[in-house]
Formats: sequence, C-alpha cells, structure tokens
Amino acid sequence: MIQPIVIYGDPVLKKRAEDITKDYPKLDKLIDDMFETMHRANGVGLAAPQIGKSIRLFVVDATPFVEDGEEDEEGLKGFKKVFINPEILEESEEEWKFEEGCLSIPGIRGEVSRPEEITIRYMDENFKEYEETFDGLKARIIQHEYDHLEGILFTEHLSAFKRNLLMGKLNAMSKGKVKADYPVKTSVKKRG
Ligand code: ZN
Repeated sequence: MIQPIVIYGDPVLKKRAEDITKDYPKLDKLIDDMFETMHRANGVGLAAPQIGKSIRLFVVDATPFVEDGEEDEEGLKGFKKVFINPEILEESEEEWKFEEGCLSIPGIRGEVSRPEEITIRYMDENFKEYEETFDGLKARIIQHEYDHLEGILFTEHLSAFKRNLLMGKLNAMSKGKVKADYPVKTSVKKRG
C-alpha cells in the first residue's frame, strides 16, 4: 500500500529514530509498503521517518539511476536492499560532490559533499547481520537515507549561501505549500 510521504517541516524528520527488534509489528508489510511508496515516487531510497515512523529502517533501489540503454558501470541496476538498525562504522576522508534531492523536500535540489566510501553494519529484512563497504552512488544513497535516521536532511549539508537562497521555499513548504506528483502529508492540517 502506498503511504503518503511526510514533507519538510514535520518534526518526525528531525528526530533520531529508534532501533527495532525482530518482533516489530507487521514489519514485512511495512517494508513492502516502503518499496511501493518509493517506486511510486520514483525515488532511489526511502527511510521510515519519511512515512512517519521514527524507527531505524530504510530501503534503497538504485535501478532508476540507470537509464535505458545506458551502461551500468557501478552495478546500480537491482541494487535493492533493506537496512535495519544500521551503523556507519567508517567513512573515507575523500569526499565528492553530487546533486541530491529528497522525496520529503520535493522540487529542491542541491550539491552535497559526502565521503566517497563507507563501511556499514546493518541487518536485512530477516535480521541477518552484515558488514559491508560501499562506494560511489551506492554509498551516496545509503548516507542520505542514514542521515534521515539521525534526523538530518540533505539541505543541512548545503552551503550557507545556498541554504539562504532556499530559505523562503523551505519555510513555505513547512507551512504546507508543496507540489509533488505523489501522495504527501504536510505538517499543517487542512481546515474544514
Ligand atoms: Zn531524503
């Protein structure tokens, strides 16, 4: 079932999310809903807080990064995974810049500098534990989603100059002024 995506301004996006255990109620259904919601919005990652659940869970599917007929040098096609209770253990010193967007902040993009490579410990949907190193766009997506679990949005990584430029738009968004081509939930309740 597609869930509405929580929009910038909702306090759930600013909270540090909590670890979960195996017996978290209806976890399979929640994960299915998250993939469905992410695909509907043409996203490549979605964190549980973005559908209003402050728990340490995110899903990724980098397939849309590879356009038809394009070479898949980084192996992004089918990079579809569930991360539960993740913990970033190591980050490379080397950083690179890439223009990011966020399903919770529709219509806004900006260049963010992040470590090129990360090592992360996490559990999959069956609570099997992994420790893996990712680089390039995979690491990029993971870091963006991981930030959501820490209550951090990509706009906080932008330069002060760029943030100032966006301030008006962001303030309007937090007051419910938002345009998206997928179901969203703003923090402002509609009257009537
Ligand atoms: Zn995001």
